Amino acid sequence: MTGNNISQHEPSGQARPQLWRNARLATLDASRQGLGIIEKGAIVVEDGCIAFCGPEAELPVAAIERAEITDLEGRWITPGLVDCHTHIVHGGNRAREFEMRLEGATYEEVARAGGGIVSSVKATNALDVEGLVAASLPRLDTLLAEGVTTIEIKSGYGLSIEGELKMLRAARQLERLRPVRVVTSYLAAHATPVEYKGRNGDYITDVVLPGLDQAHAEGLVDAVDGFCEGIAFSTAEIARVFDKAKALGLPVKLHAEQLSDLGGAKLAASYGALSADHLEYLTADDAAAMAAAGTVAVLLPGAFYAINEKQKPPVKALREAGAHIAIATDCNPGTSPLTSLLLTMNMSATLFGLTVEECIAGATREGARALGLIDETGTLEAGKSADFAIWDIESLAELVYRIGFNPLHAHVFKGERIDR
Ligand SMILES: [Zn+2]
Repeated sequence: MTGNNISQHEPSGQARPQLWRNARLATLDASRQGLGIIEKGAIVVEDGCIAFCGPEAELPVAAIERAEITDLEGRWITPGLVDCHTHIVHGGNRAREFEMRLEGATYEEVARAGGGIVSSVKATNALDVEGLVAASLPRLDTLLAEGVTTIEIKSGYGLSIEGELKMLRAARQLERLRPVRVVTSYLAAHATPVEYKGRNGDYITDVVLPGLDQAHAEGLVDAVDGFCEGIAFSTAEIARVFDKAKALGLPVKLHAEQLSDLGGAKLAASYGALSADHLEYLTADDAAAMAAAGTVAVLLPGAFYAINEKQKPPVKALREAGAHIAIATDCNPGTSPLTSLLLTMNMSATLFGLTVEECIAGATREGARALGLIDETGTLEAGKSADFAIWDIESLAELVYRIGFNPLHAHVFKGERIDR
């Protein structure tokens, strides 16, 4: 830099606070009832954080005098959306497979034609980090256009040490390219690669565990995930991965009880997991174990819809147990090619019977909780990151009720306004 733009180097601490006034707030703050609604509310943002959030009548006078003011004309503000379960980093797509199944092909025929997860592994491994980033950006941008400010991204289509590391590097790169908080999960225990067919234990020994060491050493891992299912890994196999995560001080989470009840959610709860996800075949007993451990139940209606699953997750049992419920897109090329958290909210209500309050909390506060970020984001409270979405709606229910409509006016990430 050769210019003399010294004025641009003003420390951010001296930047003017921003005051967002004349808004209706859904704070999701646990100290308030329900969605934590404040009619005629205001938010003051300073240094990327919320300095004040409450009724306009209680605004500190000093904040009003110094601030740059935006009148929101009665628009609604919610916390920025959190997509707490995605596989958005991947190569290729499975549209051909989708088409074949519609034409009557069996799963075996699809597999013989090179379909299934194997095809995603192949397409992902064919790309370098830049290629993976380029393939993932349109999906990420689609989510951001709905006010997403935090997203979780899993590995799991590399199934080799280098392949898994590459996916995680791509996820980290996405965070540098866009105004979004990215949380990574190491998911080498997603499927067994062809060369290890029938030898899950060897795959864990040779790839999953040493890969985790390496990814952790490079700072690429925020949490460790696995797929506990008859077609994937047993609880005993997952426990080996979780033990390793624990030794490294990393939190765990699990794809569990999606197609059968193997006891994955209970295992996750016994490790104090951040979340157990899918849960169609969860029992009331499992729900109680999760609630007791503070393990968030992440429901994924996109996968339920796309694979035409009939068994619904036991929402009533989760409520009765007092478990926290989050929702997410599960964006992935095979079973949930979904890049809309708004549509996910609608599906959660329509398919699973979640209330409007549960859907909105599930895509904000509970999503943040499922990522271990509840102290940082997910609600509108003083001291948290200024991550919020501003909506052109009359009532909050519209966010859940509409199908394929995006009423986002603008959103704010770490205090920075992002217009659509
Ligand atoms: Zn998943």
